[in-house]
Amino acid sequence: MTGPVLIGSEIYRGSSYGRNHPLSIPRVSLVLDLCRALGWVDEANYVDSPQATTAQLTRFHTPDYVAAVQRIERDGRATAEDRETYNIGYMENPVFPEMFRRPATACGGSIKAAELAAFGGVAFNPAGGLHHGQKGKASGFCFFNDPVLAIFRLKELGLQRVAYVDIDAHHGDGVEAVFADDPAVLTVSMHERDRWPFSGTSSIPDSAVLNLPVPKGLNDDECAFLLGECIVPAVETFRPDAIVMQCGADALKDDPLSKLALSNRAIWSAVDAVTALSDKCVIVGGGGYNPWSVARCWTGIWGTLNGQATDMELSLETRALLQDIEWRHSLGRNPKKRWFRTLADKPRPGPVRDCVRALAGRFKAA
Ligand SMILES: [Zn+2]
Repeated sequence: MTGPVLIGSEIYRGSSYGRNHPLSIPRVSLVLDLCRALGWVDEANYVDSPQATTAQLTRFHTPDYVAAVQRIERDGRATAEDRETYNIGYMENPVFPEMFRRPATACGGSIKAAELAAFGGVAFNPAGGLHHGQKGKASGFCFFNDPVLAIFRLKELGLQRVAYVDIDAHHGDGVEAVFADDPAVLTVSMHERDRWPFSGTSSIPDSAVLNLPVPKGLNDDECAFLLGECIVPAVETFRPDAIVMQCGADALKDDPLSKLALSNRAIWSAVDAVTALSDKCVIVGGGGYNPWSVARCWTGIWGTLNGQATDMELSLETRALLQDIEWRHSLGRNPKKRWFRTLADKPRPGPVRDCVRALAGRFKAA
């Protein structure tokens, strides 16, 4: 691979979790449109995501669960037993027309990203990052778990030590659970404390599990502090052969589902710092429920990976893509003018609180 590769698919444009779901908003499709309008992507650095095969999905998920998601998509309905067994058919993990093909494509994209990165380079699959998916059931909007599948693929390709860094507002519980007993995979998660799924409250150094449960209002300086004092040293000490980074955009101040307060600049700095630690990196998306915040953040990640400026005034064509978005949330009635004008948020500096400093204890992975 010569430069960073962007992985996407048109399936995300034509599908949604349903009208009232937080994921009813455009995300990956808008990122692709913005990157194209900015001239940041062309045939040379774009890969259309394959859909993961059943054999690839069952590398982690149980065959009965994979078959059930396919059947529920085909039938367009979940039975009472499906709700009970697979946690599908409730508001959280609803039945919708592409409910198998869409997450299977997100997984195919992350597996492809692993295959590309394994030979050196960075691959970004913004549709990935479904970090709550469990072996035999759906959880937290995630039907399948693409970070787990990407890590398995990297290991199959001979990369023995993999570091997983997750900066989504929610704990990366599905990934941690799989690798907690594997000292060759370091899992790092920085997430809002006292928020669903309420796990990730402490670290387990002997198992290479580092958790940073952060307080409400986490600002850019606190994020930079934790990166510099905890995350980067932990990954450096671990000496990974490859890195998988989950960049959920729900830790941003303008996101409706968390109470963290980062600007997208903090996320771009984190991407810069983490990708500097290995020449083989897979970057995936994750949460993010304000369409403007998500699209500006992930488009900016792609810009950052390519050394592009992200604080420039957008062209009229690019602004139009952002202005065309409708969002049925109270925050969507009065979008900020800045959300159309430039990709970069205003910096969100602040004091590093004692409770954040206290998280930076000694952590030495095995
Ligand atoms: Zn999240």
